[in-house]
Amino acid sequence: MEITFSGKRALVTGAGKGIGRETVKALQRGGAQVIAVSRTQTDLESLALECPGIETICVDLANWDETDEALKAIGAVDLLVNNAAVAVLQPFLEVTKDAWDRSLEVNVKAVAHVSQIVARQLIENGSQGAIVNVSSQASMCALQDHTVYCATKGAVDMLTKVMALELGPKKIRVNAVNPTVVMTDMGRLGWSNPQKAAPMKSRIPLGRFAEMDDVVNTILFLLSDKSAMIHGATLPIDGGFLAT
Ligand code: NAP
Repeated sequence: MEITFSGKRALVTGAGKGIGRETVKALQRGGAQVIAVSRTQTDLESLALECPGIETICVDLANWDETDEALKAIGAVDLLVNNAAVAVLQPFLEVTKDAWDRSLEVNVKAVAHVSQIVARQLIENGSQGAIVNVSSQASMCALQDHTVYCATKGAVDMLTKVMALELGPKKIRVNAVNPTVVMTDMGRLGWSNPQKAAPMKSRIPLGRFAEMDDVVNTILFLLSDKSAMIHGATLPIDGGFLAT
């Protein structure tokens, strides 16, 4: 199955590191013109060296007004990957207001906000589009110390469904991917301790965590016309973790 994005403009949030960074590279290899949005300028500079021709925008997506300002001139975007997120791990009884505020701003409100900006433009131009929200298996399964993260990813799943309901008639497809652990900076934060990782792996029927490509390939599929009838889905990339 060949997927090509020639002639398409794609915007990826959280593009500086991890899954977002690899998604930018894969979209560019697929022929898309990519806009990489992230928080750390040096990450964007090194990405631009690796992927000549991409556009970069440095903004903290937790700030609504700065996001409006930074994205006001992006022009038409056909494909959006809402990937940026933070994971603040705290036992339930120790969860702080700051953890809630930061996580809700980035993981939930920015997903809706960037989607509004892109969708309004698509609708104005009468163009079709596709949006993929990067959620997590944590949206559907309770994980120790993940109160805030699980709650925000549950919100992303429901946000995805409501966006699908309202944007489908406007020819914008919206889906979510729900990966298990991937060994990015974020993945290492929760799972680099073998004593924590082993019991988690043992609950995954395929017996391993996800590789970056497992997630990126699924995102590309959901952005592409090959998934033209998939809409409002929350798709596990979890080796069967959620099936058990
Ligand atoms: P990561 O390695 O921590 O990378 C996250 C990227 O998002 C970084 O470039 C980060 O920039 C950026 N970002 C964070 N907050 C931002 C903000 N306020 N404004 C702009 N950019 C921001 O994480 P990852 O593992 O690739 O995760 C990507 C997505 O996959 C997330 O939605 C995550 O929840 C999801 N996910 C990850 C796993 C996993 O195990 N890794 C599993 C399931 C789902 P800075 O570093 O500059 O802040």
